[in-house]
Amino acid sequence: MKITFLGGTETVTGSKYLIETNSTTVLIDCGLYQGYKNLRERNRQELPFDISKLDAIFLTHAHLDHSGYIPVLYKQGYRGPIYTHHATKELCKVLLMDSGHIQEADTRFYKKYKLSKHIDPQPLYDSATAEKTMELFKSVDYSETFSIGDIKAHLQSAGHILGAASIILEAEGKTIGFSGDVGRSDDVFMKPPEPLPELDLLLLESTYGNRRHEDSDPFTQLADIIKETIKDGGVLLIPSFAVGRAQSLQHILATLMKEDGIPRLPIYLDSPMAISVSDIYSRYQHETRLDKQDFDKMSAATTYTRDVEESKAITTQQYPHIIIAGSGMATGGRILHHFKRLLSNHRTRVLFTGYQAGGTRGAKMIDGVDHVKIHGQWIRIKAKVEVMNGLSGHADYVDLMNWLKQSSLRSTMPIQLVHGDPNALEAMRDHLRQNTLYDVKIATYKSTITL
Ligand SMILES: [Zn+2]
Repeated sequence: MKITFLGGTETVTGSKYLIETNSTTVLIDCGLYQGYKNLRERNRQELPFDISKLDAIFLTHAHLDHSGYIPVLYKQGYRGPIYTHHATKELCKVLLMDSGHIQEADTRFYKKYKLSKHIDPQPLYDSATAEKTMELFKSVDYSETFSIGDIKAHLQSAGHILGAASIILEAEGKTIGFSGDVGRSDDVFMKPPEPLPELDLLLLESTYGNRRHEDSDPFTQLADIIKETIKDGGVLLIPSFAVGRAQSLQHILATLMKEDGIPRLPIYLDSPMAISVSDIYSRYQHETRLDKQDFDKMSAATTYTRDVEESKAITTQQYPHIIIAGSGMATGGRILHHFKRLLSNHRTRVLFTGYQAGGTRGAKMIDGVDHVKIHGQWIRIKAKVEVMNGLSGHADYVDLMNWLKQSSLRSTMPIQLVHGDPNALEAMRDHLRQNTLYDVKIATYKSTITL
């Protein structure tokens, strides 16, 4: 069996691993490259294999860096099955269609301002293609075996986000584990990742291979920020990712207001995408740590503003309140309208709760710039900008080590490290080499290994 690394190597985006046996070809994950331009350009390059020979795609989870390239393969004629968890299928419908919309909007923008080197720039795919792609999904439960040709596989829960899985694949007498993105053992929302069975090879993610999460408790931190917001008589604006983060925030806020004596403030979830995702999360409550009452509490505490008129109505709210809106790095979405209205008010607080990529508006605000440009207009920042790092959906390197320890792995098992920036990969490799006997290597782009 051959494994070729076509993405998620020396970067955290574009995850794609091609598995070829004598009779069957499968792609594990089919992610979009994001971030730096030299990586994004790979989205426009042809994959180095014959798509007509691809028998199936197995998908670990819904994040676009793992799923966002599937509609490109659809456009190129792929019509085989996509096996993934039921919840991942539902989340993919929301995320892929949104991704198609964003690409259509970006292309219109490039055309209007003639910013592309191409005369007639085209989106990578549009939302209609994303929607058609959904016909190919065949969703399964955790532990349910599915097979294609001579390859057998099943999913096991990886924490991280709803539906996220590690994939255990068996073929030609070998068993390979694909960790997918691995969640934390103490996530506020998701259960800990399930330990791995004995394997002949593991592809292990290394996003936080060089970092430990802070010990600070997000409940206490958020409680303090809310108390300050009330004291100032202002508005708390939380730019948030739609999948996982917005729901964790809803849960923490609802719990604080119900149980910890924090005064009740109106909470607006002002993101149609996050609202759809919250709805999917509540239907899969059994896959999370929370019980039905927790979800009831969350929706009772939150005002969902789906359409634009409802969103505009928030502006009439005079008293302290909280607005959660996309996008997480303040690069787009409804949060920008609230920024334009409220950033120049010294009573406003802005809370960033996730990773801010270099160059984004979020990163600049955390760096302390005193103006930001929004929709062509410079806005003076008088608001207080705060950061909360305790809500990451990824295991740090200690969590990953503990996960391996709990698993039934052979002490000298080979590991290929994937899904990390170069520093994180090297730190993870060194840490594993110093503390274990695993045969650890860092996977490189387009390299092939044979088992
Ligand atoms: Zn992910």
